[in-house]
Amino acid sequence: MKIKTKLISGVGLLFALIILLSTMGIFYVNALKRDTNNILVANYNTLEYSRNMLLALEKIATDRDALSVFEKNLDSQKQNVTENGEQQATADIVDHFNNLKLNPADSLLTSRIREDIAELMRLNMEAIERKSSIADATADNAVLWISVIGTACFLIAFVLLVNLPGNIANPIRELTESIKQIANQNYCERVHFQDHNEFGELAKSFNTMAEKLEEYSESKLDKIIKGKKRIEALINNMHDPVIGIDEDKKVLFANEEALKISGLKTENFIGKQIQDIAVNNDLIRDLIKDLIHPDLKKENENSLKIFANGKESYFEKEIIDINIIPTGEQQSQLIGHVIMLRNITLFKELDLAKTNFIGTVSHEFKTPISSMKMSLQLLENENVGSLNKEQKQLLESITEDTDRLLKITSELLNLAQVESGNMQLNISAVNTADIVRHTLKATKTQAEQKNIKIAISIEDHLPEIQADSQKTTWVLINLLSNAIRYSYDNSVVHLSLIKENNNVKFLVKDSGTGISEKYQNKIFERYFRVPGTQKEGTGLGLAICKEFIEAQGGSIEVVSEPGTGSTFSFTITSTENI
Ligand code: ADP
Repeated sequence: MKIKTKLISGVGLLFALIILLSTMGIFYVNALKRDTNNILVANYNTLEYSRNMLLALEKIATDRDALSVFEKNLDSQKQNVTENGEQQATADIVDHFNNLKLNPADSLLTSRIREDIAELMRLNMEAIERKSSIADATADNAVLWISVIGTACFLIAFVLLVNLPGNIANPIRELTESIKQIANQNYCERVHFQDHNEFGELAKSFNTMAEKLEEYSESKLDKIIKGKKRIEALINNMHDPVIGIDEDKKVLFANEEALKISGLKTENFIGKQIQDIAVNNDLIRDLIKDLIHPDLKKENENSLKIFANGKESYFEKEIIDINIIPTGEQQSQLIGHVIMLRNITLFKELDLAKTNFIGTVSHEFKTPISSMKMSLQLLENENVGSLNKEQKQLLESITEDTDRLLKITSELLNLAQVESGNMQLNISAVNTADIVRHTLKATKTQAEQKNIKIAISIEDHLPEIQADSQKTTWVLINLLSNAIRYSYDNSVVHLSLIKENNNVKFLVKDSGTGISEKYQNKIFERYFRVPGTQKEGTGLGLAICKEFIEAQGGSIEVVSEPGTGSTFSFTITSTENI
């Protein structure tokens, strides 16, 4: 039965019973009222008239007024004949009274009338008794029916009280629980209301919804699994090693290439903590170094040399953080990392071939260029023969080009040395004055050509430095040569040497074009030249300077302002530091 029908019938029945109870109450109260009224009007009045007539009868012989009192009450009695036999008794009184009126002293008549009145009173007394028992019966009936209907009302109200709240609340509670399950993505949850009421229909709709959600989630799961498989196939077919780990550093996946280069088996890799694997595996240790200790991460340390594919192979490491923003949230959350190794062996091999080629070519060039330079010096000598003005100019320009060629070949040779990793340092205690002297000699002509004065300032009692003399001199020549090249004619370039924290600092300050801030880091990169630079050059000098100084444990930097000039400086450890 429907809840609505149940409610309507339960409450309706209760309502009907209450109306019935009230109607019956009114009915029985009315019946009792009618019964008592009946006694009052029909019998009580007759008794009253009888009593008055008896009293008047006693006085008739002596009092003339008593006659009229008797007559008045008799008339009233005549109007109030209600019982069987009362008509006859009243008629007897009338007859005997009429006779008494003619002969008031007749005592026989008086006693007859008394008997008649007594008969009338008896009749009414009996009627009162009878009517009283009728009223009793009415009252008993009222009590019975009111009790029956009252009990029925109580029973119905009790049944409703016991059943109705549960009938409504229990399904709602069950439904609430099921909705919570669905909210927790437990789509196999169903509700089981057997009744064919509103809750039954609600259960049916709920179950249909849950079924559809289950179907949808399964189809979504299927799509996700397919997508996952596709990505797995893609990762497995990649030629570069890829390793995925979760936020707790547990290995989620590793492709064939990753297994190959690490020499690990799937069962010893997937699902394991990567730190545990790293304990016995050098490569994995190297790979996760930055993840475990991000604070110790060094720049340009992404290249790895690994023995793979039967040869020394080079890989570039990249660690990508996987961040997601969970549905309904604002903050992104780290859910893992992907470690990718890019095989750069081919590029390394090509780079090595290029370096070797540059090294060989520049080495081969150096000897003929040097002999050309010597020949030019001979030609300049007046003893060999005099030259006319044009020939002298030609000779000067050939000398300039030869110097430039020599500079380029020297830079290329140094670059080859740096790039091949074959740089050899001859560290010894070096007198800084020697370095300065060689530098000044090498840059003298260049400075004279632009009429640039080199102002030297060397701090007193400078210690010797612990350096490769040739390479340090090469660096200082390069810096001074740049300062001259990028300065205006007739200016001054300052070369200073100072002591700084047990190191010796070399400073070359010019008042030339200066370098904009955004390029100040870049000028130490290979082949980089500030855009718009007019002077000829390779962009290699400063890069080699940096390599040479850092290889000796020193550091190099620039402070510059466009339009004001630049100060290049480098520090080299002094012998006092040993
Ligand atoms: P090169 O001078 O052969 O181009 P370098 O590596 O010596 O190569 O210098 C790189 C770039 O730095 C130069 O091209 C130039 O633009 C800038 N540079 C170097 N030294 C100075 C300087 N003293 N003043 C202004 N710019 C400079």
